[in-house]
Amino acid sequence: MAEKRILVTGGAGYIGSHTNAMLRKMGKSTLVLDNLSYGHKQSLDLLSYSHTENLAQNSYGDTFLIHADLNDSFALKKIFSHYEIDSVLHFAAFAYVGESVSDPAKYYRNNVANTLNLLEAMKESGCKKIVFSSTCATYGNPLELPLKESHPQNPINPYGRSKLMIEQILHDFSHAYGLNYVILRYFNAAGASMEFNIGESHSPETHLIPLVIQKALGQRKTLSVFGQDYDTKDGSCIRDYIHVDDLATAHILALDYLDSHQKSEVFNLGNGEGFSVLEVIQKMSEIANIEIPYTIEERRAGDPAVLIGDATKAKEILGYNPSFSSLETILKSAYQWHTNQRY
Ligand code: UDP
Repeated sequence: MAEKRILVTGGAGYIGSHTNAMLRKMGKSTLVLDNLSYGHKQSLDLLSYSHTENLAQNSYGDTFLIHADLNDSFALKKIFSHYEIDSVLHFAAFAYVGESVSDPAKYYRNNVANTLNLLEAMKESGCKKIVFSSTCATYGNPLELPLKESHPQNPINPYGRSKLMIEQILHDFSHAYGLNYVILRYFNAAGASMEFNIGESHSPETHLIPLVIQKALGQRKTLSVFGQDYDTKDGSCIRDYIHVDDLATAHILALDYLDSHQKSEVFNLGNGEGFSVLEVIQKMSEIANIEIPYTIEERRAGDPAVLIGDATKAKEILGYNPSFSSLETILKSAYQWHTNQRY
C-alpha cells in the first residue's frame, strides 16, 4: 500500500510552510496543495533551509507539491483517490481583512465554497480527520478579555464571517458524516522559523511586524500607526502575538489529538499577553538599535481595540506550551530572517 501522507492545503504559505517543515523533520511525508497565488514554492525546498547542514543524515519526510486550486473539484477527487491521505491540515485561504470588506465575493468563494469542495472530496474518499485554520476574527469585538473559546462569535468583517461559516460547516459535517475536526483559532501569527530559512513574506504586505522591520531596514518610506485614540494604555491597538513555530507545533499536537480521540474540538492559540502597536515599534527599535519613525494615521476599519486569547484549553487538552512567543524572540527571529533575505 502507498505511504500515508498528510495533505497540507496552503502549505507554501506562511504558517503552512512552517508546519510542513516541522512535519518533515519528524519524518512525515506530506502532500502540499497550493495554487501559489500567495505561497512561495521555495519555502518547500528543505535543501535551501539554512541550519540543516546534516540534511543527508536526517530522515526527513518528503513533500510532493501539487500546483492546483481548491476550486477544482475534479483535481481534488483525483488527489484523494490517487494518494493514501491520512489527514488534512487546511491552511489555504485569503486573509486580508480590508480586502474582504471591499471584495467579499472573493472571500466567500475562495474560503467557503472551496473548503466545501475539499470536505466533499474528503467525504467521498473516507478521509475523516481535518485541522482547520480559524481565527480570533470570528469573535468580533470582545465582550470579555482574554477571549475564551466560549465567547460569542460575532465577526465584524467578511474574512471573519467566512471562517465562522467554515467552522459551522465542519460542525454539521461532523454530525452528519462522522468527520472529526480540530479548529484552531489563531491570534496574531508572527516571527520566523527558529530552525529553517523560512519566514513571513506577503505581497502586498499589510502586517505590522514585517512592515516595522522593513522600515527598520530602510526598505520602505513610511510606517503608519492606525489609530492612537483607542481605549488602551498608549492609545494604539493591542494584539496577542504568537510565534509561527508555536503555531506549527500546535498543529502537530492537533493531529495527535485526532489520532487518539474520536471527537472534534476547538482551541484558541494565543499567548495570553497583549502588546500595543507602539510597544512593538519600540521593542523593534531596541533590537535593531535604530530609531524607527512612524506617523499616526486614522483607525483601520474592522480593527477591535484589544484582542488577547486565553489558550488554557489548548494547554490542558493538547499539551500546547508556547516556547518562542516572547515579543523579543518573535521580533528577533523575524528581524534576522528579513535581514538575510535578498530583495
Ligand atoms: N497596524 C498598524 N500599522 C500597519 C499595520 C498594522 O498600526 O501598517 C496595526 C493594526 O491596526 C492592528 C495591529 O497593527 O492593530 C496588528 O495588525 P496586523 O495587520 O499585523 O494583524 P491583524 O490584527 O489585522 O490580524
